[in-house]
Amino acid sequence: MKTRHVNTLVIGTGAAGLCAALRLHREGVRDLLVVTEGLSMGTSINTGSDKQTYYKLNLCGAEPDSPVALAGTYAVNGAVHGDIALVESALSARGFLHLCDLGVPFPHDALGQYTGYKTDHDPARRATSCGPYTSKEMCLALIRALKETSVKIEEKRLAASLLEVDGRAAGAVLWNSDEKAFETVTAENTVFAVGGPGGLYAASVYPPCHTGAIGLAMRTGAKCRNLPESQFGLASTKFRWNVSGTYMQVLPRFISTAVDGSDEKEFLREHFDDAELNLRVFLKGYQWPYDVRKTPDGSSVIDELVFAENSRGRRVFLDFRSNPTGLDLGRISEEARTYLERSGACGGTPIERLRKMNPGAIELYAAHGIDIAKEMLEIAVCAQHNNVGLAGNIWYESENIPHFFPIGEVNGSHGVTRPGGSALNAGQAGAFRAAEYIARRYQEETLDRAKAEQAAEREIVRLEKLVSGTRDAREDLRILRERMSRCAGFQRRKPEVAQALADAEEQLRKIEEQGFANSSPVLALTTAQLACSSCVYLSAILFQIESGVGSRGSAAVFDEKGEKIPEDEKFRRFVLTSCREGNRTTHAFEPCREIPRNDGWFETVWADFREGRIFTEK
Ligand SMILES: Cc1cc2nc3c(=O)[nH]c(=O)nc-3n(C[C@H](O)[C@H](O)[C@H](O)COP(=O)(O)OP(=O)(O)OC[C@H]3O[C@@H](n4cnc5c(N)ncnc54)[C@H](O)[C@@H]3O)c2cc1C
Repeated sequence: MKTRHVNTLVIGTGAAGLCAALRLHREGVRDLLVVTEGLSMGTSINTGSDKQTYYKLNLCGAEPDSPVALAGTYAVNGAVHGDIALVESALSARGFLHLCDLGVPFPHDALGQYTGYKTDHDPARRATSCGPYTSKEMCLALIRALKETSVKIEEKRLAASLLEVDGRAAGAVLWNSDEKAFETVTAENTVFAVGGPGGLYAASVYPPCHTGAIGLAMRTGAKCRNLPESQFGLASTKFRWNVSGTYMQVLPRFISTAVDGSDEKEFLREHFDDAELNLRVFLKGYQWPYDVRKTPDGSSVIDELVFAENSRGRRVFLDFRSNPTGLDLGRISEEARTYLERSGACGGTPIERLRKMNPGAIELYAAHGIDIAKEMLEIAVCAQHNNVGLAGNIWYESENIPHFFPIGEVNGSHGVTRPGGSALNAGQAGAFRAAEYIARRYQEETLDRAKAEQAAEREIVRLEKLVSGTRDAREDLRILRERMSRCAGFQRRKPEVAQALADAEEQLRKIEEQGFANSSPVLALTTAQLACSSCVYLSAILFQIESGVGSRGSAAVFDEKGEKIPEDEKFRRFVLTSCREGNRTTHAFEPCREIPRNDGWFETVWADFREGRIFTEK
């Protein structure tokens, strides 16, 4: 068995992992190894949206902004620790300008101002973008910068198990797809940048190649935060992409059909008059995620109606080829008309308006074999983002596993809502913080390597059994994903979640007992960790429902009569934590920490910084 040791192991090369590797190197950590499924894998490099947003401190115009104000926006809808919100705000300008310096083409004006716009849940103009592929541009710039360093990056490595020794992180067992064997990397520090749980839902807009690996950390008992608060919204399914922004603002027809494509209906017209319908569709453009507060009177009712059609076994499409029946562009809401007029797109068909407003939006689908000028675009309500994940402290070190640093989407720093674009900011902030902490505090060797190697040997015995058993991994994966979409999506009911949890636990037990046959080790290992994570997510969702939190964020909870249970706002003052221990998951509500209001007296801060006392605060 190949075994190596490094000071710091970075797992994952999305925008967060790449930045962490670069920052570790810049901070002087040289004994560093980056392992990844691949530089072209993960969400950051494979996804985007109409105008993919990066949220940051406002750096333009006359609107005042500050780290505390930005932290207030992060925390406003609850379930957020104020100190962590402040860290992500304080690091915002630095993380953003670092990317600009690396060549990410964020637009600025002639005077050098990084102009911004308003995104969802955003009171200021803090959002920016470099087009549909902002996160890809970030990855490409970070990869370019890393290639100029001596940092070693190994691709085709799947982290299969995280090692823990004496209650602390100790590296990982990897599946090496080149050598078709397990190998061990023991490490003083592990930066875990594996992204969100992309493989967990059947209806998903995560890129198909991205499954995530949070289940590995859950299995070791890493503390999690706010697991029920994921984000869902309308997306195309043949090629996975959010149908936000101009896709909605051009007012396409919403069509549902029978499975075979027959019995075409403009189903939304059964629910609203034409003016109301067009307003709601238009608003969906910049109110993309499902938000329970925007029902029944707002734009999110569109998601509910799409889901209802799907639940009846019907398929739903956007049709850009002709106008919705009854559309009179002279009689649409003033907001929509002004927008279309200013864009020079107040006539013609949806595709003609889209061609005027955003031709790239048409080209994007064309590049993936879908000509939306000629064919309808199939959509569904899909899982898109995890506001939540593993619990880290203000240096992004796990709250209960020292030397383990979850960063990026796998870190649960957000709460019930987040302004669009803050995921990308959070990933950069976490990368800076983890790198700084490791460089200053954790470069010395304290790990008992012999124990770590013994732990690895035990894990490899378990993993070998997992990849040489009897079950069909593909089938297990299908079952667990469909279960998650049915019971743990944006509409939740206690009896269904309880049953789903019991089924998921049973499935996990059988997987661990029987292992997988006839499948690739990568598929087997991925399915096993997703099976574990589905138990933990479902358990947290059930606990939250039973605690009476009600409907909030991107999830509606229904009672036995089918009525939406209103939110109990007192829970906004708490963060839900979850921990897997053996085959049980336990949960607790922990009061949110306030946003710190330190007076920031310069001489004191300088002394604390010089003497390294800032690192004693966690
Ligand atoms: C359609 C869509 C639109 C979005 N739009 C926005 C937006 O406008 N603004 C915004 O802020 N956010 C947006 N997001 C979210 C944002 O893109 C992600 O949160 C972010 O890119 C995640 O970055 P990351 O580095 O944490 O993870 P990823 O980019 O997913 O990278 C994870 C890395 O870990 C690797 N990995 C995973 N498991 C393993 C393993 N077991 N072993 C080894 N390697 C592993 C992967 O291969 C990959 O390299 C969007 C997401 C989607 C899906």
